[in-house]
Amino acid sequence: MFDTAFHQTMPEHAYTYAVPARWREEHHIRRYGFHGTSYAFVSRRAAELLGRPVGDTNLVVLHLGNGASAAAIRGGRSVDTSMGMTPLEGLVMGTRSGDLDPAIHGYLHRQLGLSLDEIDRALYRESGLLGLSGVNDFRELEQRRAAGDRSAALAFDVYAYRVRKYVGAYYAALGELHAVVLTGGVGQNSAELRAAALGGLERLGIVLDAARNEVPSREARAVSADGSDVAVLVVPTDEEWEIARQALAVVHGTV
Ligand code: AMP
Repeated sequence: MFDTAFHQTMPEHAYTYAVPARWREEHHIRRYGFHGTSYAFVSRRAAELLGRPVGDTNLVVLHLGNGASAAAIRGGRSVDTSMGMTPLEGLVMGTRSGDLDPAIHGYLHRQLGLSLDEIDRALYRESGLLGLSGVNDFRELEQRRAAGDRSAALAFDVYAYRVRKYVGAYYAALGELHAVVLTGGVGQNSAELRAAALGGLERLGIVLDAARNEVPSREARAVSADGSDVAVLVVPTDEEWEIARQALAVVHGTV
């Protein structure tokens, strides 16, 4: 199973980076995306919960675990996703920076004499929540934040704000949205993060139910208010199940 396969449906304008033709044509520099196995499972399960055919369901799915990404999914097909050529782009992660100005590489190289390998390693392993607060585990981050740790509070805010920006961007990319779906260890379990990322969006039709959002559960469920135009769903992912399903489809020749 290729974790990138689900995103092969992205339109050219979404997967193309604005870089020289030679890089794109000879070296295949483009957005590929990851977490595809999870998105395939979660988008089908979300459509079931909504009682809609998956082919007629538009979703913004937020996979928030140690790695984190967002995807815009129209009718069960990926139309955009936040990870790119590598899993470094996009959301803030446990130890990865996500989006940053690409000119920072050159600046660090010239100013500090860092090699490209050193910069890459720092952006993959020493950045994200870890770089901002000293911890990469979200539970521990929340505990430190609750105890008044300022760097933990900033890390939480930077993380939540990045998620919020992608929700807005993908809502616009889709035009019409039926649900925002959260999955991954953080998305499934952190009521605080869900409230920080999705609160105050009533004008966009996204209305969280504060009480439902607070209830811990391992089940797929809605945490939005009954009248919310856009549902907010929490759907535990199951990548192993999805791999088994796809393998069975190959065996049965129904792919
Ligand atoms: P995953 O990679 O999907 O297993 O997610 C791992 C991340 O989810 C870690 O940062 C965990 O701290 C975080 N996580 C797991 N359980 C909770 C919880 N109850 N509250 C907040 N974060 C959690």
